Amino acid sequence: MKTLTMKFGGTSVGSPEAISGVVNIVGEELARGSHVIVVVSAMSGVTDQLITSVREAAAGNRWAYLSCSQKLRDRHNEVIHLLTVPGKNRTDVLNEVELLLSQHAELCSAVNILGEATARISDAIVAFGERLSSRIVAAAMRHARINARAFDAGQFLVTDDRFGNATPNWEETERRIRENLLPVLEQGIVPVITGFIGATPDGQFTTLGRGGSDYSGAIFAAYSDSEELIIWTDVDGVMTTDPRIDRRARVLPSISYTEVGELAFYGAKVLHPKTVQPILNRGIPMRVRNTFNPSHPGTLISQVAEPTDTVIKAVTSVRNVSLVTVSGKGMIGVPGIAGRTFLATAKAGANILMISQASSEQSFCFVVLNDVVNEAKQYIEEELAKEIARRDVDSIDLMTKVSVVTVVGAGMRGTPGVAGRVFTTLGNNNVNVIAIAQGASECSISFVVDELHLERTVLSLHDLALEAVPVA
Ligand code: ASP
Ligand code: MG
Repeated sequence: MKTLTMKFGGTSVGSPEAISGVVNIVGEELARGSHVIVVVSAMSGVTDQLITSVREAAAGNRWAYLSCSQKLRDRHNEVIHLLTVPGKNRTDVLNEVELLLSQHAELCSAVNILGEATARISDAIVAFGERLSSRIVAAAMRHARINARAFDAGQFLVTDDRFGNATPNWEETERRIRENLLPVLEQGIVPVITGFIGATPDGQFTTLGRGGSDYSGAIFAAYSDSEELIIWTDVDGVMTTDPRIDRRARVLPSISYTEVGELAFYGAKVLHPKTVQPILNRGIPMRVRNTFNPSHPGTLISQVAEPTDTVIKAVTSVRNVSLVTVSGKGMIGVPGIAGRTFLATAKAGANILMISQASSEQSFCFVVLNDVVNEAKQYIEEELAKEIARRDVDSIDLMTKVSVVTVVGAGMRGTPGVAGRVFTTLGNNNVNVIAIAQGASECSISFVVDELHLERTVLSLHDLALEAVPVA
């Protein structure tokens, strides 16, 4: 019997109507004879509210976190009342929600007393969002005669203890999914599993980073040997660009893992960037679909990069980034400066989005997010203190009002002239390119532009992508 893993995002479980849609989607798939693993996000906005509750508790604002708790209670109870009828199922889930919310208040009160929140306790608090939504979705399914049961992912998904951004322990997770989750499916139960959260081997709650429930979905799909992973969201699929920048944006019928990976990395919010990692080698296809428009086929994401006429498939952008330039005549032919710079940047907790060096070797530059750039600069200056004192390195310069724009399309590999078209277009539109990088995968070209030119850049490059998409 085939297994499907379906992940439902925050808006897909964010209202009683949305949850009814989820119940129908899962019910129809079961009727077709599949096993279904359901992975859910917290109801939309709840993770943010929980983060606020931690902050308020640490700041000593008891009223604020209790009021947050009350809001969560009202919202979740309302959904329960709308989606179930009086009886044991309803009473049980109301009790479960009440128990979780009382634990939430207790943990907040511990933070309040201590006056600070450790990463560990923050994760335990933030985890309540998915723990609440999973209980409710399972209850709504049971009301529709689906044999569903809620699970905290930590029973299966074991991670290290980097709270807030934990990494899965692959072997242990695989073992637990095979030994403990697959038998649940065999019993005809639909597991409704919390996305976004895992647990350390000794059972402390961890989280996988914001937006991490896509990643959870991929992990469960991988180790359950699912036929497909379906990411149910609130748009019809992966788009050629951000529709808020260009209303002509269209849904791509298909895209490859590598291409979508570039898109997600460079700011398209469709998928958590790590999502493809667990399923890539297993060749499990993934589909992005719309819970609110389930008849739309969505975007198929697989190993195959369909060639298109215009080569460029999509354009994406990242705002709020800075360009760091390390320059100096003394760097020519001296190995190790770049390596040490990147290591120092990593120590500052800054992720590098793109790197570029010209062959003169007199400078290289790279892009990091604005909120970590000052710390990164400080770490780099400490690391290169000797070289700076000797004037081998002249300076470490920051440009903060810049954006990265990326054009994506696997067909760029071995197709001459694509970069030429891209830069001609930019030239014709009077966009000054500050730095350029092409990944060795040759499936994207990224460049840094002044943040004031961002929209113009995206609009003009999107013209190049649009022709590639067949008109629906
Ligand atoms: N609820 C979490 C968040 O808002 C995880 C997710 O939705 O993917 O970040
Ligand atoms: Mg999400």
